[in-house]
Amino acid sequence: MEAQIRHTWSVEQVNALFALPFNDLLFQAQSVHRQHFDANEVQVSTLLSIKTGACPEDCKYCPQSARYQTGLEAEALLEVEKVLERAREAKANGSSRFCMGAAWRNPRERDMPYLLQMVQEVKSMGMETCMTLGMLTAEQASRLADAGLDYYNHNLDTSPEFYGDIITTRTYQDRLNTLAHVRQAGMKICSGGIIGMGESANDRAGLLVQLANLSPQPESVPINMLVKVKGTPLEDQAEVDPFDFIRIIAVARILMPRSHVRLSAGREQMNDQMQALCFMAGANSIFYGCKLLTTPNSDESRDMQLFRRLGIRPEQRTQKPDLMHEQAIREAVMEKQEESELFYDASKPRSSAQVSHSDV
Ligand code: SF4
Repeated sequence: MEAQIRHTWSVEQVNALFALPFNDLLFQAQSVHRQHFDANEVQVSTLLSIKTGACPEDCKYCPQSARYQTGLEAEALLEVEKVLERAREAKANGSSRFCMGAAWRNPRERDMPYLLQMVQEVKSMGMETCMTLGMLTAEQASRLADAGLDYYNHNLDTSPEFYGDIITTRTYQDRLNTLAHVRQAGMKICSGGIIGMGESANDRAGLLVQLANLSPQPESVPINMLVKVKGTPLEDQAEVDPFDFIRIIAVARILMPRSHVRLSAGREQMNDQMQALCFMAGANSIFYGCKLLTTPNSDESRDMQLFRRLGIRPEQRTQKPDLMHEQAIREAVMEKQEESELFYDASKPRSSAQVSHSDV
């Protein structure tokens, strides 16, 4: 029987899940996972930073904020053709979704024609499209949806109570409003948070409660582990206990049974065993082979080697035009060891500052 989707979770109920013995929690999460997904498939997305740095917002974890000296080199909006070149490469490397991120408070009107063209053309390649551009008005959301944007990423980051310690230039309600505009425009929502910013256990539960009580729940839930970038206010945060992180994945899976739970930023800091336990706990999406906006990601070939060792297959998307061909490409990529020049890895720590929009 399928797990019920509930939108009435309380922090106390979620804390009770966190208090379960580790094995019991993982068993419950894995049981829920198998009711809704193939337990041996993981969805693979590629993320490209289409506009980097110089962001006016003050998100304390983010090297793209203009307020912190992180050594990140700012870049203007990429030309459409450059974005398409990277999208073609992502497709050839086996990604089923291409995510484009820009370090903005919100998109400006003069950028919209370029953004709409990017969406239309990437979509026409047969990939799902995703963008993260900051806050959206209802009208902007509707135009992006009309152009063919499938997903919009906008993270809640943390609990409402802790949020003000991390960001002061926009409110939690601003974020919820953008998510509402995205939903009203008919797009799918990608929204999650970051673990390891100094939040309490209650804040972790509070974030998951906020996400799970959205109705409908986000289709995609990125769970990021803070990448501590030198120069940001959070550069000296304590490490997250790996078992605590795995528990968060498991609880997210139980609360949001039909959502893809994504291992996002910070994956490079996880060893293979930890990633395997995250998959066991219900994580079933990763970013692959492209820098996570500005922090490094896990090495492409390492990912594919791990998939092979665990018997995991990249999830196929029904809208792909030529699935047999795609599978052949993926198999070829699994043999390939060298890195592409076009992409960087979103989960490896990079020398200078790279993450943005809540790490996606
Ligand atoms: S997370 Fe996004 S909005 Fe916040 S500073 Fe970074 S790029 Fe700007």
